[in-house]
Amino acid sequence: MRPGFDRLLTDLTWGCTGGGQPILGVVCVADDRLYRRAEDLARFFAALTSLPGRIHVDPQGVRDPYSPEGLSRAVQSLDAAVAETQVRSRRLLDWHWARAVEGVPHSGPRPFGWQEDRITLFPDEARLVKQAIDDRIAGKAVRAIARDWCELGVTGSRGGRPNPQTVTQIMTAPRVFGYRANKGQLLLAPETGQPVLGQWEPIVTPDEWRAVCATFSPGSLYLHRGSGAPRLTGKEKPAPRHLATGFLRCGAQAPDGIVCRGALCAQKGRSKKSPYVYSCRSCGRCSISGPLTDEVLERLIVSNTEGPVRLSDAMRERWQSGEMEIEEKREIVGSVVASCLVRPGVKGARAWDHSRVEPVLKRPRHAGWSYAEPTGP
Ligand SMILES: [Zn+2]
Repeated sequence: MRPGFDRLLTDLTWGCTGGGQPILGVVCVADDRLYRRAEDLARFFAALTSLPGRIHVDPQGVRDPYSPEGLSRAVQSLDAAVAETQVRSRRLLDWHWARAVEGVPHSGPRPFGWQEDRITLFPDEARLVKQAIDDRIAGKAVRAIARDWCELGVTGSRGGRPNPQTVTQIMTAPRVFGYRANKGQLLLAPETGQPVLGQWEPIVTPDEWRAVCATFSPGSLYLHRGSGAPRLTGKEKPAPRHLATGFLRCGAQAPDGIVCRGALCAQKGRSKKSPYVYSCRSCGRCSISGPLTDEVLERLIVSNTEGPVRLSDAMRERWQSGEMEIEEKREIVGSVVASCLVRPGVKGARAWDHSRVEPVLKRPRHAGWSYAEPTGP
C-alpha cells in the first residue's frame, strides 16, 4: 500500500492538487523512491503524461516525459532499482546459507535441552529428552510422556507447559543428534552431499533419532513443521477446530487492483449447510462456506492417488473412516499445501462453487518424506 503514491497519481490525472494548485510537473530526488516495479512506472507515466506540457525534474536536470529519451531514462532507473532489490535479497539468503553450512546454531530462544549458548547441554533437560526418546521407541504414548513432564514441573525455555505436540517436536528435531535442518530439510553440504553437523553437543545417536521418528506419522515430525515449533513457547493457543484454518488467503481486490491476501478466519455461519464460514478479517470482502472449503482440501488430499503428495492407503482409510483426529488431518494438509487463495463469491449465487478455492501446493521436496533419511555421520 502506497497512499502517497496513489494520491500523486490521482492529482496528476485531475491536473491539480487537492488545494486546487495546477500541476506542471514532478520533482523527484531519486527514481527508486517513486517506483521499484514496472506496474508503478507504467501507472506513473500514464498519469504524468495525461495532460500536455509537463516536466519531470531529477538531480541530473529536466526530463521531457513525452520523449522516447525521457521514457528510456525512467526505464533504466527502474532496471537499476529492480537489480538492487534482487541483490539485497540474495545477500540475505547467502548469509543464512553460510551460517547453516558452518553449523552455527540458529538465533532465537534457546532450544529445550541446551543452555543459552545453544551448544552445551542443559543436563537435566537433556536427560529428560534422552529418556523420552528411549521410552517412545519402547512404545510409550507421547501423551504419557508429556504428562510425566508436567508432573515433574518441566517448563519450556519460555515458560510453556509440555504437551504432546511440543514433546514430539523436541524428540524429532534433527538437532537432538547434532544435525542441522533448515526449512524442513536436513542440510547437506554442497561439496560432499553429507549432512551438516552442528557445533552443539548431541543428545542421542542418528540411529536413535531415526527410530523415534519412525514411531510418528510423517506429518507430525519436526522436519514437517519447521524450526519455529520445537520449543515450549509459553502461550498455547487453542488448537484450530476446522481443517482449513490458517491456510486461507483473501483473494478480493481493492479498487486499485491489489489483492488483499489477508487471513480468512473461521466464524459462525448462518445456514444449516454452512454452520461455519471463513471470512477475511482485513477487508471483509471475502467470505466462504466452511464445509465447502474443507471439502476442497479433503478432496485434494484424499483423492490424490498419484504424485508426491499421495497419502498411504492406511492413512487414507483412517481419514475416510473418521478415525483420524483434526490435528493430524491439519498436519497432513500443512505438509502439502502452502496456502489457498479464496476468490470472493458472486452475490446471490446459491450453488457451491469449488473453484473459488485455489490451493497452492508446496514444492514436492517439502511434501516428501524421503529426504529425511540421513546417511549417517
Ligand atoms: Zn480481504
